[in-house]
Amino acid sequence: MPGVLDVPSCDACGHDAILHQIYSGRTLCGEHLAKSVRKRVSKSLRKQLELPRQKKEDEKTTILVAISGGKDSAVLLSFIHHLLHKRRDVVIVAGVVDEGIDGYRSPSMDCAQELCDELGVKLERVSYSELGFEEMDVVVEHLPNIQSRNSIAKGMAPCSFCGVFRRQGIIHLAKRVNASVVALGHNLDDMAQSVLMNMQKADLDRTLRLAPHTSTPLAGMTPRIVPLRWVPEREIHAYAMYKNLPFFHGDCPYAKGALRQRHRDFVASMEEDVPGSMHGLLHSADRIKELYAQIPNENVTGISPIRECIRCGSITSAEVCKACEMMDWVRDSTNPQ
Ligand code: SF4
Ligand SMILES: [Zn+2]
Ligand SMILES: [Zn+2]
Repeated sequence: MPGVLDVPSCDACGHDAILHQIYSGRTLCGEHLAKSVRKRVSKSLRKQLELPRQKKEDEKTTILVAISGGKDSAVLLSFIHHLLHKRRDVVIVAGVVDEGIDGYRSPSMDCAQELCDELGVKLERVSYSELGFEEMDVVVEHLPNIQSRNSIAKGMAPCSFCGVFRRQGIIHLAKRVNASVVALGHNLDDMAQSVLMNMQKADLDRTLRLAPHTSTPLAGMTPRIVPLRWVPEREIHAYAMYKNLPFFHGDCPYAKGALRQRHRDFVASMEEDVPGSMHGLLHSADRIKELYAQIPNENVTGISPIRECIRCGSITSAEVCKACEMMDWVRDSTNPQ
């Protein structure tokens, strides 16, 4: 019987294990965890990233890797760099969006810059102010006022605004570097939470629009890929620590209270009770997308048509996009009456 101080050993090599993969029953040391993560990420990247075989001379595919200074995007960038930096037909650029959050954004930007310097990858930045949005610190300060004046804003957490503005930031950076594809650092936990949130709201459109967009491109949008989608968050974390990647360990002060946090807890407890639940949720969404793709176009209903926002021209399903609508609320609430 193992003693209290016994460390479980890796089932592949017998060295001390750093992680128990409950859903597979495996225990892994750092090296074998790294091997296992690498295998899943490489496979996803091969499936999701289509590089043209026949290229004209000097034609390159630019990948914008959206990073935040956190562990997920650090792992994503290091893998994309490792797997593709030798290819002469690929350009890798990292992009970070500054949300204007005091005490959080600056140290995480430093980590993002440190990683890019280590890898020799160019880092592009854009801030909410440059995009014409208010900084998140200002949005949060005026949130009670915004909510009292706009009934649909009631119950919205800071992340509802931040998610919409950040999406515009990534679109802006993708245009700036002329990206053919945008890589996002969503891990398996993030994906499973999104699937559940969309299902809960019966939002089929969003389920169908979930990245990767390799075989389901969205009109007017640079396709997104999510190579970490089959790797759970704790494995990404353990991998980033094992590889000593520079990443910011702190949390955003506004994360609390977001609906996603509730789903995070719920999905985590479901995974604990029934290991493999997160994989199951993501497989379900993939299956829905596959079935939907088989429906002949003329019979398609239930997905909102895509058009351009009459104010800013960005892609939306309404007349005015969410970012413009939210900025109206913010302006209204910050202007003295
Ligand atoms: S936790 Fe929410 S408010 Fe903070 S950076 Fe993320 S989306 Fe923005
Ligand atoms: Zn091992
Ligand atoms: Zn707009």
